[in-house]
Amino acid sequence: MIWIRTDEPRFFSDLGDVLRLFYGDVAMSLEAGDVVFEHRFTDADGLWTDTWTSQGRQATLSQPACDGAPLLVKRLRKRQVKQALYNLLKDLTGMQPPWGSLTGIRPTRLLYEAMEAGMTLEAAVDHVTRAFDVAPDRAALLGEIAQMQEGLREPPEDSFDLYIGIPFCKTRCSYCSFSSGEIGDGRLVEPYVEALLREIGQCKGLMQEAGVRLRAGYVGGGTPTAIPGEDLERILAAAQEAFPEAVEWTVEAGRPDTIDEDKLRRLRDRGVSRISVNPQTFNDDTLRRIGRAHTGAETIAAYELARRLGFDDINMDIIAALPGEGVEDFAHTLDVVRELAPDSVTVHSLAIKRSSRLHEQLAVAGNGYGQVSREGAAEMIAMARSRLTADGWRPYYLYRQKYMAGNLENVGYAKPGKACLYNIGNMEETASVLALGAGAITKWLFDPKCRDLRIERAPNVRNIEEYIHRVDEMVRRKRDVILRDL
Ligand code: SF4
Repeated sequence: MIWIRTDEPRFFSDLGDVLRLFYGDVAMSLEAGDVVFEHRFTDADGLWTDTWTSQGRQATLSQPACDGAPLLVKRLRKRQVKQALYNLLKDLTGMQPPWGSLTGIRPTRLLYEAMEAGMTLEAAVDHVTRAFDVAPDRAALLGEIAQMQEGLREPPEDSFDLYIGIPFCKTRCSYCSFSSGEIGDGRLVEPYVEALLREIGQCKGLMQEAGVRLRAGYVGGGTPTAIPGEDLERILAAAQEAFPEAVEWTVEAGRPDTIDEDKLRRLRDRGVSRISVNPQTFNDDTLRRIGRAHTGAETIAAYELARRLGFDDINMDIIAALPGEGVEDFAHTLDVVRELAPDSVTVHSLAIKRSSRLHEQLAVAGNGYGQVSREGAAEMIAMARSRLTADGWRPYYLYRQKYMAGNLENVGYAKPGKACLYNIGNMEETASVLALGAGAITKWLFDPKCRDLRIERAPNVRNIEEYIHRVDEMVRRKRDVILRDL
């Protein structure tokens, strides 16, 4: 247990994120523990000074104090106290985390912040490297992503993106932490679809009142193709009638064992422009181990079927550092993906969230699966980057998660012209997202062109049965947020 004694307890959870960069998933407390990290803060002579001490070492960071708006002051204070702790940890452990002191989900934000302050792209890349100790290859990756996002990052004014969640899966993957449920006997599917249709119908009027038009639609989950094809079609038909003329419609057909010709035809005939067929790995032993009820051969068959039916924008998700996989296993998956040549590839680093079954399994098995080391995970991610870019895919969006193998990242790569607008708008938080279904979170942007961008959220309840019974209330929540300023 690590004991954090700090003059800034309001940042306890952020300081925990910094400690996890070096020590992994350790327990922390503000009250007691075996290893103490002690923090002192002074605000004197126009300087903020943060000093951290532990195990006989000390790190001090002083910077000019800021007396701006409270939110800005809080942000700068948080950055400084985290950076000072990071400096001490680096000194204590000799480690160099790939993303330096950054612990947030969206590192691209810091690059764009620097560019908005007047820096060129090159200067902004350099700034991120120096200010946050980000490894030069990661800062360069941010620069490549910013170039790929040029002209795609800002959606048209008065537009919104749409997310529809189908929270059912055939079986539960061991690493899953989403609010999806196994479809079981399927008794909840019909009432869920009815509730969703009701939410879509009510939001049609809401979007008209807000004066916004749909840009990109995305049906995710769960696994949308886990439900019958006619239900999926009814949902798409209702959404397209309520919010016409989107330029992009994605449906996650994630699990190959949920895809058949009838479903794919229905999606295609409803104008779905992009689908995901997700192998995660092409090693069948791993697929069994992580609880996915399909084989690599089934993924290939589903992908080829989709191609034959005319889908010309297919994404594949793969995961590095799956339990029991070494660098060679991942290289095999990568080679099969390159051979199949989907239009985009999303490379995830395994994140073992506490709510996942895998978290429990690893706690029991220890390293019984032969979990790859940090270095091994980093090698996999570097291999994906070099092989995919050599074959013409380019990185176009990136995000990070807590509890991620090796403190790495998730990166979406796309062939030219195949970047997903929804993914960019959602990850960069440049698009308002109307989100429907259990557990979906609407995010609405106010004054998106201004530095004081405000994002308001309206979450739907996660529990499927509660959602079914409270759908009208979910729409009222959105109405209260979206129309507040009108
Ligand atoms: S397919 Fe996705 S949502 Fe479904 S159980 Fe697996 S990880 Fe979770």
